[in-house]
Amino acid sequence: MISVEEALEKVLSYVEVLEPERKPILDCLGQVLAEDVYSDIDIPPLDNSAMDGYALRAKDTRGASESSPRYVVVVGEVAAGSMPTKEVRPGTAIRIMTGAPLPEGADAVVRFEDTDEVNRKSSGGDLSQIGILCQAKKGLNVRGRGEDIAKGDLILKKGKVLRPQEIGVLASLGRSTALVIRRPIVAILATGDELMGVDQPLAPGKIHDSNTYSIAAEVSRYGGIPKILGIGRDSVRSLTEKIDKGLDADMLITSGGVSKGDYDIVKDVLAEHGEVGFWTVCMKPGKPLAFGVIKKVEGGRKGKVPHLGLPGNPVSSMITFEQFARPAILKMMGKKILAKPAIRAIIEDDVVNTDGRRLFARVSVTKRGGRYHASVTGPQGSGILTSMARANGLVVIPESSKGVKAGDMVEVQMLDWGEEQGEVKTVPIVSIVGKSQSGKTVLMEQLIAEFKRRGYKVAALKHSRGGMEIDHPGKDSWRYAQAGSDAVLISSPDKLAFIKSLDHDLDIEELLPIVGPEFDLVLVEGFRKSKIPKIEVHKKELGDDLLCSPEELSAIVTDGSLDTGIPQLPWGDTVTVADFIEKNFVLKG
Ligand code: AMP
Ligand code: MG
Repeated sequence: MISVEEALEKVLSYVEVLEPERKPILDCLGQVLAEDVYSDIDIPPLDNSAMDGYALRAKDTRGASESSPRYVVVVGEVAAGSMPTKEVRPGTAIRIMTGAPLPEGADAVVRFEDTDEVNRKSSGGDLSQIGILCQAKKGLNVRGRGEDIAKGDLILKKGKVLRPQEIGVLASLGRSTALVIRRPIVAILATGDELMGVDQPLAPGKIHDSNTYSIAAEVSRYGGIPKILGIGRDSVRSLTEKIDKGLDADMLITSGGVSKGDYDIVKDVLAEHGEVGFWTVCMKPGKPLAFGVIKKVEGGRKGKVPHLGLPGNPVSSMITFEQFARPAILKMMGKKILAKPAIRAIIEDDVVNTDGRRLFARVSVTKRGGRYHASVTGPQGSGILTSMARANGLVVIPESSKGVKAGDMVEVQMLDWGEEQGEVKTVPIVSIVGKSQSGKTVLMEQLIAEFKRRGYKVAALKHSRGGMEIDHPGKDSWRYAQAGSDAVLISSPDKLAFIKSLDHDLDIEELLPIVGPEFDLVLVEGFRKSKIPKIEVHKKELGDDLLCSPEELSAIVTDGSLDTGIPQLPWGDTVTVADFIEKNFVLKG
């Protein structure tokens, strides 16, 4: 049995980033840009008005106010899309609309609301002159030429995933097409004598083929183009015939025919036409998985089509698709972020993991009181597709775990969240752990000072099991709390303090958003149970055993030497410890 990671690595080693194609920008949504895009224009192309108002010389408004207007002679009007025909001379103004080019001579725009135009209009007054009711600074309500994009600038870099805003930027540059990595064509074949098409009435013993549809929809969701091959029967001839029709695709996905009973058919077909790898993957559902390449000859050239054989059970095929086919499709599309975003949530049911495989449990995730909660979506049989329909996440329980109890924190892959969501900048974080008296706080102090010396913006976090008191009796914050407020925030020009009553001990994941994203490094003392990288401080005199098990640790800082395989750093040599943190957590991102 191989691990999920090993299986994924193999699958990914079989697929390549596809070649680029040029196409209309509107068809490029979600695709990866294959060219650097420079601008050959300024945007905006000219200085122009950000408001409807009067373009004038700021000088002419000196001292203007509601009670003492400054009067200017209106010499013309300019609308968006046309060029001003007159120049603004001292003592004059041109009526101007948003987006219209600023006339020669003008250096500011005063909004209609800051003139007496409305009054004049309602009283049928003379509009050839206008009173300005406020003093304007040079540049007021003027959008400068090239303020958004300057001619010659690199605007979009190769590798960028195109979202609606990038499509808009391309349009503003006057590009009607873009060069993008093309979408993969994924051929989909269901196998099984029991399967019937969705539009056929069910004969006894038969079921509708649902995998073709769930898989094709997944392929589309991730940017591929599904090519439906239909239903292959459980015979070598039928399968061969169908597979032949899919050989012009970039990948072939079959479902069914890989569990023990009928696996031989898919294997025979693939062995005859290519190379087949067949693995049992250490996961549940989805243990059997076939993978290989099918050879083809096209126009005299030999080629290979990667093939992924998913298990037939509808839930298994979707979950294995998510773990293996989805990243393969994303890789072919040139995407760099292949992992589904994962969150930490509180599980609301007990989940047992009986046979030492990685368990993917279908859950419905909700957010309540600032925390995520995951509840299992009913019976978890791998044929119960509605349990998948009720789910928006998969709880991942490691193979080493016997299961979780209601109330535990678990990791959840969010099925409906885009991969790019995982790209949000995360601040590097390291926790210093150790037995009491091991010198954690001293090391924290030394590291903070060392990283400050290196020019880092450092945040330090400490967990205090015994509670704490920082709002002192008599202070305003204390009085607010006495009056019953659940949170008090005191801000001053140079400091911020936030005191909030809690009903549970916060996880590090809940604390980090409070700390904020502006730090280069977060150093944590304690939080031994969290999943963040940990360095344990060890002192000879406290014995040879460690507080954490070695697999939880990235390194040990010790004044002795221990018999473990993890890196050991010398106590007292802060530079070496800081180098280690820098190299392993900061520079890596
Ligand atoms: P298999 O892997 O072929 O042994 O199939 C395992 C289970 O999944 C069987 O109960 C099949 O009936 C079911 N199954 C296989 N293919 C499909 C499909 N395309 N749609 C719905 N159920 C399927
Ligand atoms: Mg079958």
